[in-house]
Amino acid sequence: MKPILPLFVFIDACGWEIIKDGDFARGVAPNRKRLDSVLGYSSTCVPSILSGHWPDEHRNWSYFVYDPKHSPFKLLRPLRWLPKAVTSRRIFRRWLSKFIKAHLKFRGYFDLYNIPFKYISLFDFTEKKSPLKPGGMNRGPNIFDFLEMRNIAYHVSEPERGEENNLKDLLEHVEGEAIDFAFVYWPELDGLLHRVGNQSMQIAPKLQQYEKWIQQLMTTAQKHYEEVRLYVFSDHGMANCDDYLDLRAKIDALPVKMEKDYAVVYDSTMARFWFFNDHARQVITETLKKVPQGRVLPNHELKTLRAHFPDHYFGELIFLVNEGTLIVPSHMGERPIRAMHGYHPRDKHSYAALMTNQPEIPDDVVAIPDIHKLMVRDAMEAKAANSGIDKIIPLESPMGGAIVENQHAATVLP
Ligand SMILES: [Zn+2]
Repeated sequence: MKPILPLFVFIDACGWEIIKDGDFARGVAPNRKRLDSVLGYSSTCVPSILSGHWPDEHRNWSYFVYDPKHSPFKLLRPLRWLPKAVTSRRIFRRWLSKFIKAHLKFRGYFDLYNIPFKYISLFDFTEKKSPLKPGGMNRGPNIFDFLEMRNIAYHVSEPERGEENNLKDLLEHVEGEAIDFAFVYWPELDGLLHRVGNQSMQIAPKLQQYEKWIQQLMTTAQKHYEEVRLYVFSDHGMANCDDYLDLRAKIDALPVKMEKDYAVVYDSTMARFWFFNDHARQVITETLKKVPQGRVLPNHELKTLRAHFPDHYFGELIFLVNEGTLIVPSHMGERPIRAMHGYHPRDKHSYAALMTNQPEIPDDVVAIPDIHKLMVRDAMEAKAANSGIDKIIPLESPMGGAIVENQHAATVLP
């Protein structure tokens, strides 16, 4: 047996509102706390958790940015002649996304979403590396760089292998006592919530399945580690969308032209603009002011949210919609979906959750990047304990020398 296993279980979109009143994981992780999320999507929340930094530090924010000079998508321009009936189909885009991901050697998650081929060569994609791997951040280190630098053996899920395969792998590592740290990533709840909404009958069975897996992990881990420090947590919640906003129609109706006067990325809850002349800046800003379903985020607020980029890399103007409104069609999707996240971090369904079997959650753990502090602390403590550095029990040896003993090795000192 080894002394300590820190077990970090990340359930995407398992927000505070989803778990706060129910019994999910209460038996194994009774101590729970609401955490602030980060402005943006999983493309920014996950890197924030993994690095302990905020978007203005790590620069993993929204996926697509206006950057024609560095656009890797020039090869797709001929596709602009294909009929929309083909190019807007999810099945076609998914297939093409896979092809492009391999062709361009992107290592993270990649999807073309609904970016029109007419404009695709204006944009760059900002997550070319996987934040779930060492060296995976756009700027600065993540927890896996930390673990590798300190030679701490760990498990991390590979999303493309699926939740059950990852669970199987982790159980094997735990049974072999091969690791001193584990980071489990379960993304399926997020997809389910997007499809069916946060009030659906289908949510409870998914949570029950997760609870069963966590139980199974704990039972196995407790046979091989004296102390299992369990943390179950999320990156954001999920709000039902009952109001659809066709922002593109409003902007397209203005006497300014995309590509010539301005560029825009319509995310599901944000529209990010770059302006090429004052006229475009003025008419678009005036129009956005009259849209009641959202507002332009002022710079001071973006700074407070740690998502202000003075170089305007992610856009000069950020328009954010109210919770429950979905921009549709957007560059993320042609058709409406039931629920979304990526609203203001202070909106009700944005809050994340942290659940643990540890008696105390430190006071300075208040937002999702703070989970990184717990990971660093527990990884260091597990490494020290599991390699015997702080578990030295001196014994009398029959030979007269002291025996230094720990769980794995007994060393006879002269
Ligand atoms: Zn999502």
